[in-house]
Amino acid sequence: MRDVCIVGGGVSGLAASIFTARAGLDTLVVDGGESILARNASLENYPGFPDGVDARRYLQLVREQARNAGATFELGRVTSVEPRDEDDLEAGFVLETEVGDPLEARRVIAASWSDSEYLVPLDVGRTQRGSKHFVAVDDAGRTAVDGVYAAGRIAGEPHQTIVAAGHGAKVGLAAIHDSEVNFYHDWVVPEGYFTGRGRDVPPGCEEIDDEQRRRRDDRARETILEAFSEPLEEVPTMHPSVDED
Ligand SMILES: Cc1cc2nc3c(=O)[nH]c(=O)nc-3n(C[C@H](O)[C@H](O)[C@H](O)COP(=O)(O)OP(=O)(O)OC[C@H]3O[C@@H](n4cnc5c(N)ncnc54)[C@H](O)[C@@H]3O)c2cc1C
Repeated sequence: MRDVCIVGGGVSGLAASIFTARAGLDTLVVDGGESILARNASLENYPGFPDGVDARRYLQLVREQARNAGATFELGRVTSVEPRDEDDLEAGFVLETEVGDPLEARRVIAASWSDSEYLVPLDVGRTQRGSKHFVAVDDAGRTAVDGVYAAGRIAGEPHQTIVAAGHGAKVGLAAIHDSEVNFYHDWVVPEGYFTGRGRDVPPGCEEIDDEQRRRRDDRARETILEAFSEPLEEVPTMHPSVDED
């Protein structure tokens, strides 16, 4: 049984997975298709990219980051989530997908804009606005069902990439705090930042020396330079109701 199963490998789901996986939780991302961001023509309001970024490249990089953090991936649409034991939600959940065997996880993060039908058996509390359903959550992304969370647009967050990513991270942190993992902050700090004050390095934090810092910077620059060396062949996905003939 996984510690966390994240339904949806778009912006918020990937951000959540980076946090849960880095905290040491066995994290599975199940993705049933394409992020809505793949329809964007040029992502220009995501902090850190002064002249914007190809949205497909951004998604590729976030997926790579989630994999580097230790998250694993399965393709397939989740069709239902039910408790393993109706009387004991601590026992986790069973997720059915369109393909493959059922999956089991202690916690589930729904990050699946725009599908939440699979949550109907759990009665998490959904509201309808027009043709869309949103999942009701508290400030940390917890639904009415213990162990089930919702992140990103499906949780009613504004329809912006940075907001979805930030919310995914926040919900991932809530799942970490609700688990048994010993965690303070996910921080990488210079050697001595804590220990130089006679403190232990808090759980979730890491102190690195200058050589390690330079090595990581070399690797980070190499990754980014390679990723941005050529334009991508892929083009934005058009809205399904636009007639392209
Ligand atoms: C045309 C367009 C242009 C945009 N341009 C911008 C922009 O310029 N700047 C900006 O900030 N934002 C932009 N956005 C908004 C941005 O794309 C979204 O706010 C953001 O992607 C929401 O993230 P999310 O994680 O909630 O959903 P998504 O990124 O859509 O991720 C949801 C994921 O869940 C998966 N999924 C759904 N159902 C299931 C299921 N049952 N089982 C498994 N997986 C499932 C989907 O396949 C998808 O991968 C744009 C959106 C559109 C449509």
